[in-house]
Amino acid sequence: MSGDRILLSGIRVRGFHGVHPEEREQGQDFVVDVELVVPLDVAAATDDVLGTVHYGELARAIVAEVQRDPVGLIETVADRVARLVLADPRVERAIVTIHKPQAPIGVPFGDVAVRVDRTAARLLPQERVVIALGGNLGEPARTLEAAVAALRRLPGLTVVAASAPIETVALTSTGPDPAKPRYVNRVVVGTTTREPDALLTALLGIERVFGRQRLEHWGDRTLDLDLIAYGDLRIDRPGLTVPHPRAHERDFVLAPWLEIEPDAVLPGYGPVRDLLFAIEGRS
Ligand code: ADP
Ligand code: MG
Repeated sequence: MSGDRILLSGIRVRGFHGVHPEEREQGQDFVVDVELVVPLDVAAATDDVLGTVHYGELARAIVAEVQRDPVGLIETVADRVARLVLADPRVERAIVTIHKPQAPIGVPFGDVAVRVDRTAARLLPQERVVIALGGNLGEPARTLEAAVAALRRLPGLTVVAASAPIETVALTSTGPDPAKPRYVNRVVVGTTTREPDALLTALLGIERVFGRQRLEHWGDRTLDLDLIAYGDLRIDRPGLTVPHPRAHERDFVLAPWLEIEPDAVLPGYGPVRDLLFAIEGRS
């Protein structure tokens, strides 16, 4: 990575982000600092702005990004600005700080800010990942739709395809239980720059946000996110087993996966089509 940087700070934008109704109605100032890691050698050699990132244009694009579509959190705004900055193929890394000096905190304070630090995905190794989603409490189809949207926004994950939802009978430790609410399941395939542990931690974090209560293993749940496969990697230790140890025998994982990836292979187990055929032959 280059050691060169462009620093642009104190961009002040009126925006309507926040979780309180008055923040959405009245708006407040957000102040943006960005630090770009970008090679400046071509600009220096040519003395031409075409050789670098035009910081005037960038500042105007950042203002437009902060003004549009109000969201709840400055974490979300920071991520949006980082994605905007990294859309320029010359930028290798973006460090974005969003200050919210008028945040309604209720005590006298000087400033509050969040900072994200993102490296361009093209500079990092990518692994293919398969993630299974399931839920049977509340409105599972809606929960899964929201969870897929969260996965699409998760830094370090690119969703390549998401299956349609399928509905299945709840599976308990003693077998299928038609008396329990039916499950909705989906599968997402994508690429990630995250380490397996960091990806699983994020998946469990999304589960928590969507209100899953770990009452019992195999119990009813609003959202279950499982890491089914991570490249060809085989991991087996407390807290993380990949490929997921039960994926090969779960039709509600294999069928939606096959739908979006007809040639899918579950590492260590074989083609998903064959695994699914074996299950269907048994039942
Ligand atoms: P299941 O998904 O098989 O019904 P749970 O979701 O109740 O089981 O189990 C959750 C726990 O399993 C998590 O705390 C997590 O640490 C562990 N785990 C191990 N491997 C994986 C994996 N590949 N995907 C998701 N969770 C995993
Ligand atoms: Mg799970």
